Amino acid sequence: SPLLEVRGLTASVKETGQQILAGVDLTIREGEIHAIMGKNGSGKSTLTKVLVGHPHYEVTGGTILFKGEDLVDMEPEDRSLAGLFMSFQAPIEIPGVSNFDFLLMAVNARREKSGLPALGPLEFYSVVSPKIDALNMDPKFLDRNVNEGFSGGERKRNEILQLSVIGADLALLDEIDSGLDVDALEDVANAVNGLLTPQNSVLMITHYQRLLDLIKPSYVHIMENGKIIKTGDSSIATQINEGGFKSIALV
Ligand code: ADP
Ligand code: MG
Ligand code: MG
Repeated sequence: SPLLEVRGLTASVKETGQQILAGVDLTIREGEIHAIMGKNGSGKSTLTKVLVGHPHYEVTGGTILFKGEDLVDMEPEDRSLAGLFMSFQAPIEIPGVSNFDFLLMAVNARREKSGLPALGPLEFYSVVSPKIDALNMDPKFLDRNVNEGFSGGERKRNEILQLSVIGADLALLDEIDSGLDVDALEDVANAVNGLLTPQNSVLMITHYQRLLDLIKPSYVHIMENGKIIKTGDSSIATQINEGGFKSIALV
């Protein structure tokens, strides 16, 4: 079975009942890279949040199968332990918890689930250190509190550091390119590419061709009004880049 199989997914804002997702179909197999593009407000971020179980949204219909298992009634923490990773557009600050402690806790929670012994701080440092270097991050960063006082670029690098340390079978990357300069974007893209294996997959949301030049998608989807209305190869992205969304023939 596919890694992720979404069928007829509808979802609403819990508080108001306003429907945002209007029947999403999406299949992602092992080793594939998918990109979702679409105008602002089309429901891209909501889709990724619903996949990870964000509490603001309610699934009102359809199915989400991940490794053949239904995610809809699973807690966000369990979805994450099952191998789903999400980077948030605006990651939260966690006062009093250092990045190092946060990453070590996350890694050990996964090791425990797999029946592996917990890593000690020294062992973990030797794991995380080369990954920090690869992302051109200052090692002092590990002593700082999670996301505290980070610049936009630091947050993005940190999200990818989390992904590279924690690992994921499916990484959902929502606008990891927003606000990054060319050097930061290259570091982030190289790190993501370095994580790709024939077993794991990426779903990335972006407005920009430049990210898709660095992380080459197997499929590009266009989202509009809470649905995926077109799927194709990376030439769709080129077309949008040159002629805008209006240049895409939708049927
Ligand atoms: P995109 O990521 O494609 O720009 P979003 O998924 O963020 O779009 O939002 C889709 C639509 O749903 C927008 O009109 C947005 O205002 C609305 N929306 C999303 N989340 C909420 C929420 N928690 N409360 C109210 N409206 C929301
Ligand atoms: Mg938006
Ligand atoms: Mg968005």
